[in-house]
Amino acid sequence: MATVLCVLYPDPTTGYPPHYARDEIPLIADYADGQSLPRPRGPLGFRPGELIGCVSGELGLRHVLEKAGHKLIVTSDKEGPGSEFERWLPEADVVISQPFWPAYLTAERIARAPRLKLAVTAGIGSDHVDLAAAAAAGITVAEVTGSNCVSVAEHVVMMVLALVRNYLPSHAISVTGGWNIADCVARSYDLEGMHFGTIGAGRIGLAVLRRLKPFDVPLHYTQRHRLAAETEAELGLTFHPDVSSLVRAVDIVNLQLPLYPATEGLFNDAMFSTMKRGAYLINTARGRLVERDAVVRALESGHIAGYAGDVWFPQPAPVNHPWRTMPFNGMTPHIAGTSLSAQARYAAGTLEILQDFFDGTPIPDDYLIVDGGRLAGTGAKSYGLT
Ligand code: NDP
Repeated sequence: MATVLCVLYPDPTTGYPPHYARDEIPLIADYADGQSLPRPRGPLGFRPGELIGCVSGELGLRHVLEKAGHKLIVTSDKEGPGSEFERWLPEADVVISQPFWPAYLTAERIARAPRLKLAVTAGIGSDHVDLAAAAAAGITVAEVTGSNCVSVAEHVVMMVLALVRNYLPSHAISVTGGWNIADCVARSYDLEGMHFGTIGAGRIGLAVLRRLKPFDVPLHYTQRHRLAAETEAELGLTFHPDVSSLVRAVDIVNLQLPLYPATEGLFNDAMFSTMKRGAYLINTARGRLVERDAVVRALESGHIAGYAGDVWFPQPAPVNHPWRTMPFNGMTPHIAGTSLSAQARYAAGTLEILQDFFDGTPIPDDYLIVDGGRLAGTGAKSYGLT
């Protein structure tokens, strides 16, 4: 019998939903890059479209795990020595956490988890785990690669349009009884013709490029490995050999690369100063890619025209975090990858990973971040160390 410690975000403030806005979610075939959707064995413990990412939803795992004789602890209480997470950590064989409400698995916490063998990220991005410490402790780290790529790509497109068209302030004017058209449009532009560039054109970055292509925007990208020539030709992509070349060339910069030591603080004062005046920055990747106060300065000085982000540090962000109130921001709490549609996929993938782990079947390479004491599978490609 294993103890599975699962950290999820709290329930809605109004309580767990008795019903939903829609009766079902569309059935999706396999992912665009050909990767298979999660295929857990046996029935799911939830109905796709239900809110399973929060504590009462339990990722639909309770029945399935308890039937197999395992113990499931679910909590949102994750910070500090008195937290439920720290209380149960010493007896946990498996920890499950989500990037939206990350249970930071630091080296100190790993040292207090002698039984821990598997850390699952229910979603994408395992930077909340100290990967080196996990590798040294023989812990396998796995995530549900692909599960919410389109969810995030759609969020990026929404943020691009929201910033460029000045949607959020205009909406606020409409709901507060106003009608000053000039207030709405004094910062509103058409996206058409603007140059868009993504730093990182992996699963999500490429999905963003594909979705923006019909808007007639010249598309740019940079990353260490160049995309296939056919993909560049199909989308009319301009490749830049480095970040600074891309940043100077475009009106909208999108961050879609993982956080690891070499990418932390990538957007600092020096980088902002190389952006075009009036450019926009979108960040659904990780908060620490951007220096907290540098973006505030860039917005307040008017050097950049807007910042829309979905990711913060720490999470949850403190109420006085300056990104909540800085000018021209289109921030969301970390939600891009946890739509009800995404939850169904990453919960199914989490179950698949658990089944492989308990059955002694190899976890697919696509899902692996750390295994056998080193970066493995997707982790070896994504985290920049190999
Ligand atoms: P992928 O691994 O598919 O793509 C990441 C891309 O980043 C790769 O193509 C890689 O290319 C590129 N990259 C890595 N390092 C650098 C670098 N130093 N400079 C430029 N490019 C770099 O990951 P995904 O697209 O699936 O996810 C990307 C990130 O999005 C995740 O790591 C996560 O942090 C975030 N995310 C956010 C979510 C949300 O809800 N907001 C949900 C899901 C993910 P190369 O190796 O050639 O450099």
